[in-house]
Amino acid sequence: MRIQAAVLRERAGAFKIEDVDLAEPGPEEVLVEIAGTGFCHTDLLPRIDGFMAEPPLILGHEGAGVVTATGPGVTDVAVGSHVVLSFDHCGTCPACVDGHPAYCRSFWRRNLVGRTDDDGGRARDHAGGSIGAQWFGQSSFASHALAEARNVVPVPDGVPLELLGPLACGVLTGAGSVFRVLQVARGTSTAIYGAGAVGLSAVMAAASANAEYVIAVDRHRARLDLALELGATHVVDSTGLSVGEIASQVKKISRGGTDTALDTTGAPSVVTAGVGALRPQGTLGLVSAVAGTIELPGDALATGKTVTGILEGDAVPHELIPELIELWRQGRLPFDRLIRTYPMSEINQAEADMASGETIKAVLIPGATT
Ligand SMILES: [Zn+2]
Ligand SMILES: [Zn+2]
Repeated sequence: MRIQAAVLRERAGAFKIEDVDLAEPGPEEVLVEIAGTGFCHTDLLPRIDGFMAEPPLILGHEGAGVVTATGPGVTDVAVGSHVVLSFDHCGTCPACVDGHPAYCRSFWRRNLVGRTDDDGGRARDHAGGSIGAQWFGQSSFASHALAEARNVVPVPDGVPLELLGPLACGVLTGAGSVFRVLQVARGTSTAIYGAGAVGLSAVMAAASANAEYVIAVDRHRARLDLALELGATHVVDSTGLSVGEIASQVKKISRGGTDTALDTTGAPSVVTAGVGALRPQGTLGLVSAVAGTIELPGDALATGKTVTGILEGDAVPHELIPELIELWRQGRLPFDRLIRTYPMSEINQAEADMASGETIKAVLIPGATT
């Protein structure tokens, strides 16, 4: 069928809205008419020279929309179902069977490549050329996306479908890390480094878990102010602070160190500060690949501290996304406050606004004109 998609033609080029031919859903696949799709920093990885996914590509992996067709064998959703499109996974490898689909043995190939002719891809441009699609099992920077049935999560009516896409990755990552991995609990302390979409989602999750200290650390005053509105109990403006100064401020606020911490910055010096500010036996999670090398003093982990990487909040999307919607309904996870919507045709402006920090989370609306 003929769809419209924002196509990345060159690593450093602008996105272009194009007509694209997309195949009908095959076995265990669904076609989803996209109501809105979040813009995540991971969508910018193909801008890096040498990255495994090569343009031309249709990106986008925080889609939400309505199922308009189903392939053979699909039983969990039907035409008309409202769904959020999350990351792809195989469902049968040891990690998937054990309830950790983010660590699926084929995660990279399924999510970070973009299928082309060589790999069963089924998106073509007007000249018949193959376009990489099904990025994260979807490619939702488009009017429609072909998704695997197992990575679409049904959602209830009565919620703003066009805003739910970020629950698939950014909000899932922040909240999943807090709930599932760090297990932030009532009366405990946590520090969240970086107050972007993932960090602020973690702040909201920690507040909803009734942590006693929720400390947000960032260099942008406006984001720290928003963190306070979203449930942070304290903030640290790290502008001009050394690693040691950041750690000592967080330790002082938390009366000796935090039980847990989450780094969303990927900055090595921030990770060093976060580990230094943990109490004995504390755990720090890393949600993004850290740029460069993390330097830790030789005795940094001696008191039983743990540093762990976390992909996609180690979440099971079918379980966590409905829970996040329920928390939103209760007013305890107001993730919509992170969002600014743009027509899909303004995707390049959305990218620029996220890069400048003016927008925390862009959501692109296909077909919108304003
Ligand atoms: Zn993402
Ligand atoms: Zn798997």
